[in-house]
Amino acid sequence: MHGKVGGPAYGEDTPEEGSPPPSQPELIQRAETLASIIDSRIGHELNPFTVVVERPLGPVEAVVNGRRTLMFGTNNYLGLNQDRRCVEAAKQALAAYGTGATASRVAGGNTDEHRQLEREIAAFYGLKHGFIFTTGFQANLGTIGALVRHGDAIFLDAHCHASIIDAAMLSGARVRNFRHNDPSHLERLFETTDVAASRTLVVVEGAYSVWGDVGNLTPLLSMAKARGATTMVDEAHGLGLFGSGGRGAVEEQGVEDLTDIITGTMSKSVGVIGGFCVTNNSAFRAIPLMARAYLFTASMPPAIAASAREALRIIAAEQHLRERLWSNTHKFHRALSDIGLKICASPAPIGSIRMQDIPVGRAFWNGLLARGVLTNIMIPPATPNAEVLLRFSVSAVHEGRHLDQAITAFAECYRETK
Ligand code: PMP
Repeated sequence: MHGKVGGPAYGEDTPEEGSPPPSQPELIQRAETLASIIDSRIGHELNPFTVVVERPLGPVEAVVNGRRTLMFGTNNYLGLNQDRRCVEAAKQALAAYGTGATASRVAGGNTDEHRQLEREIAAFYGLKHGFIFTTGFQANLGTIGALVRHGDAIFLDAHCHASIIDAAMLSGARVRNFRHNDPSHLERLFETTDVAASRTLVVVEGAYSVWGDVGNLTPLLSMAKARGATTMVDEAHGLGLFGSGGRGAVEEQGVEDLTDIITGTMSKSVGVIGGFCVTNNSAFRAIPLMARAYLFTASMPPAIAASAREALRIIAAEQHLRERLWSNTHKFHRALSDIGLKICASPAPIGSIRMQDIPVGRAFWNGLLARGVLTNIMIPPATPNAEVLLRFSVSAVHEGRHLDQAITAFAECYRETK
């Protein structure tokens, strides 16, 4: 979920340098207000933010609220969290290393599994340097924090993820947002910011987590590079989904030469948890040693690294998984559009439907769950333009019967809430 909760609203610039941070009582007040909003918005119905997956029944089925439920709201795009080869790799490392590394990478928590995963993620992208972090959030925090500081500028797409926004705000650089996917607004930021382009970092995403739309990479990155800025693309929702090698939107749009750094997460298509940063630029090879989010946190459990290695191998080798993911995606989007639902962006494995307001969104989400389909609901301030969105995701391992059941459930809920 996009993390504007507690942050600035979509499309607003993040706070100017030097603006006073909120006081402790103000922060507590904000948290209490938010908690009461969430409670009052949920009322007596099941709460989408605290729903419990009671027992897994496979990669896309689980017991939720006591009944068999189809998972249409996680980021398990390729079903690899339950792939027997990934589970077996994790089991072997678990037997060898135990449950955790119990230390940071630089203080004894650097096992052979971590070292191999780092080499293999760089090789997967065909780049010289690869670094892994314990989560995707930390990969962005660490990478952006290492790249920019006070006196630099950072320009973000207005739909960027919370981890990017927080990293930018923490960095001390001048932070400005450009309108989502809008090269002319990015150009204006270059023209109106009193920082050299050579000291500016431009951050975009391969595919965006709220609407599921792809980044408009060619014009944005070309403009940034032509001006001498550094470019970074977060492929959290791109890895494994786009490109014939599964490397993401950068590969699919052929903009590798315009991209200085790619970050991403292993908590979605890779099926585990962990983050990474890859680059060809040797000047950036010290990123981990400059990143507090790398130095001062325990490394991921070795069993997780072992599973991620196997998943990357499968993603590179098994194009049929991506083909299946996209054929499911097209079928599902087509059916939802035929029903009359308004989907925010063109078909992608993650998609959002605009709901009239919170009560309708809540009723829709609850109606789907009652029919055995688990999705997500997103409400302001965590959404662009203060929209209420019902978000769904499609997986390569959804079978035809899963899609059919979900489509029927969506049609019935649409009729009920119209
Ligand atoms: N970047 C983007 C674009 C994301 O969508 C997410 C997760 N939703 C992250 C980073 C953070 O990844 P993780 O959950 O692995 O910390």
